[in-house]
Amino acid sequence: MELSLARLVYYSRNRIAGDALPEIDAILASSRRNNAGAGVTGALLFNMGCFGQILEGPRRAVEATFERIQRDERHGEVSLLDFQGIDERAFSNWSMAFVGSSKLDEDRFADIAGQSGFDPSRMSADSLFEILHSLALEEERRSD
Ligand code: FAD
Repeated sequence: MELSLARLVYYSRNRIAGDALPEIDAILASSRRNNAGAGVTGALLFNMGCFGQILEGPRRAVEATFERIQRDERHGEVSLLDFQGIDERAFSNWSMAFVGSSKLDEDRFADIAGQSGFDPSRMSADSLFEILHSLALEEERRSD
């Protein structure tokens, strides 16, 4: 078991003008490089003009990553939903999984997120976590 692991869950509002996907590709490239070096894993959701993200790893590394993310002007209204110690990672295979933008993800998201009107900002930390985890697992099965 890794010592002092923590998980952080937040959502934020997109501030990228126009087509967000090329900029999200750049965010994912930096994330995967930086997170792999820092021992941070997790998943990023982009849906309905909102981001939802899970970061997990050594507490200090998660805090440092989140501090950098909060200063990023590509999003705003960053709202922390949860930050707590965990015994093990849920996203150990992903330096940063990306879910929510494919048609398949949208359909799946619609199935499980219907009660919130599909809006990540109206979800609890637990439901956001469950959705990102199940979408990431499905993504992994599809790419096998
Ligand atoms: P680089 O990777 O060298 O920067 C890459 C490119 O992005 C450069 O072209 C640079 O100009 C541009 N860029 C960098 N920062 C900004 C900025 N603030 N505004 C506009 N353009 C910029 N980073 C992580 O390390 N891990 C994460 O999990 C993570 N998740 C993110 C989730 C969201 C929703 C957002 C918006 C950002 C996320 N980031 C994440 C990015 C983070 O905010 C920093 O931009 C990044 O960590 C900087 O990495 P770097 O110093 O290696 O810059």
